[in-house]
This record gives sequence, structure tokens and C-alpha cells, in this order.
Amino acid sequence: MLVDSHCHLDFPDFAEDLDGIVSRARAAGIARMVTISTRVGRLQDLLAIAERYDDVYCSVGTHPHHADEEDGIAPDELIALTQHSKVVALGEAGLDYFYDNGSPEAQARGFRAHIAAARTTGLPLVIHTREADEDCARILEEEAAKGSFRAVLHCYTGGRELALKAVSLGLYIGFTGILTFKKSETLRAIAAELPPDRILVETDSPYLAPGKFRGKRNEPAYVVEVAKVLAETRGVSLDEISRQTSENFFRLFSKVKA
Ligand SMILES: [Zn+2]
Ligand SMILES: [Zn+2]
Repeated sequence: MLVDSHCHLDFPDFAEDLDGIVSRARAAGIARMVTISTRVGRLQDLLAIAERYDDVYCSVGTHPHHADEEDGIAPDELIALTQHSKVVALGEAGLDYFYDNGSPEAQARGFRAHIAAARTTGLPLVIHTREADEDCARILEEEAAKGSFRAVLHCYTGGRELALKAVSLGLYIGFTGILTFKKSETLRAIAAELPPDRILVETDSPYLAPGKFRGKRNEPAYVVEVAKVLAETRGVSLDEISRQTSENFFRLFSKVKA
């Protein structure tokens, strides 16, 4: 059994064959999928998908790319939207300095509002961080000092320092197809070093197709390829990685039915 802890089933790339996508994932042994919100304003689209499939859940949040569009979102508004039984996480929110979308100030405001909602609800926050290691570490530390919260740094591409800082704050680290790319040696070294109870696998599909599917549309079934490379990297069997990452997923995403 494997879990795809992060995909975007509401993206237009999947509109034509969503049933096919979900059944291929089931056939590949993917027991749960979490389709991650990028705009609070589009939550209804995600809920429609999560309500259609027993094994699909969703989150609610504002991606840093849309931070200006949904600037000023209040933790209470987010908290209210988590009442639905299929909403199991907050995010994705965080900092992205790679693309020029969303001002850093609005991204930071949104990030902190999502952390506050995670703290109050006890639900995990899915954190998107890219080229923003220092600011991300600083905000995580400041917010953790106000009271603990649960979170995953998804699609990890940051440095060793931020990963270890996150782990020391009790957070998890999620790996995508990027782990399978030839030039990702540094990332694999980080993945090899993390404690076994803090690692997750995900696709972030439709983006980032792993290894042999590179350049094609990604889909949840391909999370197996990420798990294979993570197993190899850590010198354990695929069975062991599947068991460990699934256990970690159900511990973190505790609202998902086991
Ligand atoms: Zn992301
Ligand atoms: Zn994403």
C-alpha cells in the first residue's frame, strides 16, 4: 500500500479522465490520495471530487502563487472550511521566491494565517517552500514558539539545514518525482539522512512526472516510482518504504480514515 499525499486532481489536465486516473491509482495500490487546494475560492471544485471517491480527500488553502488574490484570509475563515469531513489538511501555503507570483509580504501573511489555523484545528499544514529556505525557517521557528502545529514541507527541494530544522520542530518532509532526477544527488543525500518516521511520498501531479515518465503528465499511480527511488536511496526495500510512508501519512493526516 502507498499513499499519494499531494496531487491536484482538480487541474484541467485531469478533467477528461478522472475516473481513469483514480482507477489506475487503485490498481497500482495507491490507497489514499489527497488533492491539495491552491485557492480557497475553488474549494467547491475539490469537494466535488473528494465526495465522488471514497479514497480521495482534500485540503483547503491558498498557494503562495495566489497569495495576493486571497490576501488577508483569516484563520477563522480557514478553520470554518475544515469542518467538512473530507477536508483533512490546510494549505498548500508558504513561500515561493522562484516564481514572481505573489508578493513576499502577502505570501508570509498567508503562511502565518494557515499556521494559525493548523495550530487551532490540529490538522496538518501542507507547506510549499521554494528558494526561500531562510525566511521559511525563520517563520517556522517564530510560529512554533507561539505553540506547536503539525505540517509537511511538501515537494522538498530546499537545503539540508531547513530539512533538519523542520524535523527538529516535529514536521515531515515530502518527496516527489524530483527525487528520481539524475541531478538530484543533494536531495537524495538529504532523503537518506532523515528519520524514517518523518518522510512522505507524493506526486504533485499533474506536474513532475518521475523517472521514466519524465516530461509526460504525472498522475497518482506514479507515486510508486518515487517510493522506489526513496527505498533505494535509504537502502531499504520498497515494502519497507511503503509501510513506513503510509504509517507516517496516517499519523500526520489523522482525519483520513485508516
Ligand atoms: Zn507546492
Ligand atoms: Zn502542489
